[in-house]
Amino acid sequence: MLSNSLIELDRRHLIHPVSSYRGHEELGARVLKSARGAIVTDMNGHELVDGFAGLWCVNAGYGQDSIAEAAARQMRELPYATGYFDMGSEPAIRLAAELAERAPGDLNHIFFTLGGSDAVDSTVRFIRYYWHCKGQPQRDQFISIEQGYHGSSTVGAGLTALPAFHAGFGLPFSWQHKIPSHYSYRNPAGDTPEAIIAASLQALHAKVEELGGPERVAAFYAEPIQGSGGVIVPPKGWIKAMYDACAAMDILFIADEVITGFGRTGPLFACSDEGIVPDFMTTAKGLTSGYVPMGAVFMSDRVYDVMADGAGAAAIGHGYTYSAHPVSAAVGLEVLRLYENGLLANGRRAGERLMAGLEKLRDHPLVGDVRGRGMLAAIELVVDKAKKTPLPTDAAPARRIFDRAWQQGLVIRAFANGVLGYAPPLCCTDDEIDMILERTRLVLDATL
Ligand code: PLP
Repeated sequence: MLSNSLIELDRRHLIHPVSSYRGHEELGARVLKSARGAIVTDMNGHELVDGFAGLWCVNAGYGQDSIAEAAARQMRELPYATGYFDMGSEPAIRLAAELAERAPGDLNHIFFTLGGSDAVDSTVRFIRYYWHCKGQPQRDQFISIEQGYHGSSTVGAGLTALPAFHAGFGLPFSWQHKIPSHYSYRNPAGDTPEAIIAASLQALHAKVEELGGPERVAAFYAEPIQGSGGVIVPPKGWIKAMYDACAAMDILFIADEVITGFGRTGPLFACSDEGIVPDFMTTAKGLTSGYVPMGAVFMSDRVYDVMADGAGAAAIGHGYTYSAHPVSAAVGLEVLRLYENGLLANGRRAGERLMAGLEKLRDHPLVGDVRGRGMLAAIELVVDKAKKTPLPTDAAPARRIFDRAWQQGLVIRAFANGVLGYAPPLCCTDDEIDMILERTRLVLDATL
């Protein structure tokens, strides 16, 4: 009874992100009530294993008392401190220092945001300001990648390359450009790493030329693994090759690690896998493991110094009321402690089990591709394996698969393009990984 009236209130009043408003009025919400570890429980007492860590964010798993205690302690002691007027709080300063110590290379300066979208948005402002300080304001063109996702702020949604974020919103802006994705499974250039890397490099250079040469291009954005586009994993060497090409043209390179950061692919940051040091790195999600909102922009010494010297005594006009929120920072510090006290190591072990288990699903008639790294993975469903015929791309089949999984006690991400995404909490036990795999097979069998 209680849950029925809640569903009614939800239908009437709560606007859900990235949803069909009319569709939602009809279908109603699946309301979660509680959670522990990797298991979530809905309002009806139905238990499910969360194969998606909320929205690729609850890396530490649910119900970690030490995180709740860190937040409560900070709320009692100092619930808010602004970073404006050169003020601050101890947890924010300590978290910035801890992150800088662990970040690749000279990414030593941290700007805290509320999440990933405003982290991306902040980089766009910083980059424009950087080129202004360098005396090259004409470097005002931005390049990102098809199937990429860089958030839902007005500017970030234009860097994003998913149609629903553009249609009807007047996006992308004229200064936002895309090159094709490295998407190995469906790449016209073929599926060898060499061919894919060569095609991406060629596309980048062609785009830069089209825009008037490197002196017009401000920055290039890439996710180490494209997440919301369908967990699209580039071949080894791709990110390094793109980074080197940008560096040779003096184009800033932004690694958007909002999903891949904080252990999701194994190391703390995915871009350290290929030894690159981007000019900026954007993070959120795993930073606080989803317990409270927070994002972080990592800025290199090189960029920081240009901006700081360029501005001199003038204020650089960018910041939020909740930048470097002390409660979020206290949570971030505790989550970082958990990562280094077994969580990263457990994630790596569980990730191997997950990938090995998903590989075994290749024998299923619906599974065209299996891909991933660590605890970030996907299977791509096709109607015909030989021809790689995609499932119908309207939302209905994805919704049906999501519903079937839910009935089986499994939360996964069913993308509209027939891709099933996995990003379980890093704390998963072997049994929980096996539950994800077994239930996936049941869902696939029921989908045949
Ligand atoms: N960048 C990437 C790569 C993301 O995956 C996301 C969200 O999924 C964002 C940015 C936006 O983050 P948020 O939803 O916290 O605003």
